[in-house]
Amino acid sequence: MKTIKRIGVLTSGGDAPGMNPVIRAIVRTAVAEGISVIGIKRGYAGLINGDVQELKNADVDGLTLKGGTILYTARCDEFLQPEYREKAAKTCKYLGLDGIIAIGGDGTFKGAVELSKLGVQVVGIPATIDNDMGCTEYTLGFDTACNTILDAIDKLRDTGQSHERVSVVEVMGRHAGHLALYSGIAAGATAVLLPEQDVDFEHDVADVIRRGAIRGRRHHIVVIAEGVGHATDYCRRIEEATGIESRVTVLGYIQRGGVPSARDRATGAQMGVRALDIFKEGDESKAVIVKGGVIDDMPLSDTTDMKRALDQTMFESCNRIDTSWYWDK
Ligand code: ATP
Repeated sequence: MKTIKRIGVLTSGGDAPGMNPVIRAIVRTAVAEGISVIGIKRGYAGLINGDVQELKNADVDGLTLKGGTILYTARCDEFLQPEYREKAAKTCKYLGLDGIIAIGGDGTFKGAVELSKLGVQVVGIPATIDNDMGCTEYTLGFDTACNTILDAIDKLRDTGQSHERVSVVEVMGRHAGHLALYSGIAAGATAVLLPEQDVDFEHDVADVIRRGAIRGRRHHIVVIAEGVGHATDYCRRIEEATGIESRVTVLGYIQRGGVPSARDRATGAQMGVRALDIFKEGDESKAVIVKGGVIDDMPLSDTTDMKRALDQTMFESCNRIDTSWYWDK
């Protein structure tokens, strides 16, 4: 076992509920084991500028139930340039860090790989509401975001049912439809439109709503991932094609916030502890992942450019559930 004295931790890219519980788990575990934790502010920008603060137990009190990240997060374009990464590596040396824990998505992991090439040991923890990283079955924040979407859809259902409308709900996901699919199937949506799938508007949307209307159903939920196109355009087309009044709701940034769910807290806590163990076990830069439903790790350099494929079985199940029935045959 290697002795480590001081590690740095940063959050980068889009914020995700679960980042704070990870920070808490890291600090609580490290401090108890005599390791000091340096919080780096605003992702890689803080590493370039030396914007840091030691994190003590009192700083992480109550963080299990806080969304966002106390370390702030940022997208740092400077870090794409080698000279700034050199500067970041020098900060690590100057601060006497044994390594860095980088919490974030795909881009954050790419940055982590580049930093590790400069002799800094980096451990990546996957956190993004998109759940689009191919290296892991789960990224922190996804579950909370799905629950936030469901909560919003449940409320839209009340008003949509009262007014007999189609509710078109746009959720985040420019390139990945995991959020839309998971929340769509959970909400019992009439149609779920994803960037990974070609959309046949007549077949996938208009016909299903028309069929339901003939059978007495006057309210529908259509979930659309933002990468599919403008939800307002789809809303207008639905109204024209079906004659049913339709309203669009773009959920936007509320999907990023909120109290982390049990899954995000428990997974985050375990990932934080595993990250510390990786430093103790050796010098290799690694990513903490979920594999086969349990916490695991893999070489950091193997993680980049692995896009997580859409769950086809879930997509097929979603389509097989006939949402057009209102009364039985
Ligand atoms: P999310 O999935 O929520 O968007 P992310 O981690 O993928 O999170 P990005 O904005 O893509 O978010 O990346 C975060 C930061 O990682 C960037 O602002 C940049 O500082 C760094 N980064 C991204 N790609 C690279 C790269 N190829 N080389 C070096 N650094 C990178």
